[in-house]
Amino acid sequence: MKINIQRLMQNIERYAQIGKTGEIGVERITLSDEDKQARDLLKSQMTAAGLEIYVDEIGNMIGLRRGRQDVPPVAMGSHLDTVYQGGRYDGALGVLAGLEAIQTLNDEGIETEKPIALINFTNEEGVNYAPDMMGSHAFAQLGDLGKILASQSYDDPTKSVDSELQRIGYKGDLKCGDFPLDSFIELHIEQGPVLELEGTDIGAVEMVQGIYWTRYTIQGQANHAGTTPLQYRKDAGYAASEIIKFAGDYVRNSPTQILSTVGTISFEPNAINIVPDKATFTLDLRSVNLETLKDGQEAIDNFANDIIQNSGLSLERDEMVRFSPVQFDDGVVSLIADKAGELGLSVKRMPSGAGHDAQMMASVCPTAMVFVPSVNGISHNVNEFTKEEDLENGANVLLNACFELANR
Ligand SMILES: [Zn+2]
Repeated sequence: MKINIQRLMQNIERYAQIGKTGEIGVERITLSDEDKQARDLLKSQMTAAGLEIYVDEIGNMIGLRRGRQDVPPVAMGSHLDTVYQGGRYDGALGVLAGLEAIQTLNDEGIETEKPIALINFTNEEGVNYAPDMMGSHAFAQLGDLGKILASQSYDDPTKSVDSELQRIGYKGDLKCGDFPLDSFIELHIEQGPVLELEGTDIGAVEMVQGIYWTRYTIQGQANHAGTTPLQYRKDAGYAASEIIKFAGDYVRNSPTQILSTVGTISFEPNAINIVPDKATFTLDLRSVNLETLKDGQEAIDNFANDIIQNSGLSLERDEMVRFSPVQFDDGVVSLIADKAGELGLSVKRMPSGAGHDAQMMASVCPTAMVFVPSVNGISHNVNEFTKEEDLENGANVLLNACFELANR
C-alpha cells in the first residue's frame, strides 16, 4: 500500500505557510498564535478524515480512527511546534505523514482490526517553556502535571503553559495518561548526516541517546587585568576555560561513544581589561550508554571540583536535564526494518542523537521511530530539507508498519 505523495507535499506546504520565515523555513513556537492556527487546521483535517478528536489537559491532540475491535489503538504522531527560525519537517512530518496514512486507508476503504490514532504533542521543542517533550512527558505521566502547567514563558513570565493553553483553546478535559495505546511509531527527519552520507533510505531507530544538561556557575573576584598578579587572581573565566577544555578532551579520548558540547557561555562583567568574577556555561553530554554517560559526567565534575579547590573560587552546578538512554521495542524496530525491505528500500538500524516524543512514549507502549535522510544533516535551521522521494519512502514505511500492527 502506498500513500498519495502529491497530497502529502501539498499539506506540508500548507502548514509551512503558518509561521513561514525565509524561503522554506518555519517559526511556529508552541502555544503561539501560529501554533493555534496549525492546530485548528489539523483539527479540521482530522474531522474531515472522520476521526474522533480528543484533547488532553496538556493540549495534546488525538484523532481516533475506529477499528473492528474496541481495544487500545496503534498510534502515530509527532509535534507541530518548531524552534525559532526552524524548518518545515522537524515534527510536522510525523504528524502530516500520519494523517496521510489515515487518509490513504480511507481512500482504500480499509477497516483495521485495532483502531489507529494520530497524535500532535504539545511543546516538543521546549524553546519557550520547560521541559521539552512536554506533551509526551505528560501523556506518559512521567512528571508532576501541576508543575508542568505552571511552567512560565521565557519570553513573558506572566504567561504560563496553563494560561496559554486556555488562551488558544486547547486546554482539554481528557486526563493525561487516560488514553491507553497498543503501540506507537514516530516518523521524523534524522537531523544528522548519517543516512545521507551512507546512501541509506530509512533509519529504523533502536534507541535514543541519554542527555544530561548541566549549568556551571563559577564565582571569583573582578579585578584589574594589569595590576593584579596571577597568584592573587580569582579568575572565573580561566577556570571555566580549563573545565571546557577538559570536557572536550575527555570525549575525544573516550574509548566508548560520548559527546560533549559547551554551547553557551557568559562572563561578568564581560570587559576586556577586567578579570571576570563570574563565568556561566552549559554542558550538553550525550551517550547511548548510561554508564558511559554517568562516568563522563562524574569525571568532568571531579575535574571541575579540583580546579576550584584552593583557588578562592566557588562552583555551583545546576542539573537541568537528566534523561537516561531509552531503548525502543525490538519487535517494532524489526517491523519497521521489514516493511522498508518489502518496499525495496535500504535500511539501517541506528540510534537517535536528538530527543523525541517517542522516547517518552516508550514507557507507555511498544514504540520505535522511522528516520528519513536530512540533506547535509541540517536541522533546527531554516535551510532544513528532506527530498520528496525520502518523505514518500518514510510515509510509506509508517503506513505499512502501522497497518500491520493494527491487524495483529
Ligand atoms: Zn522534532
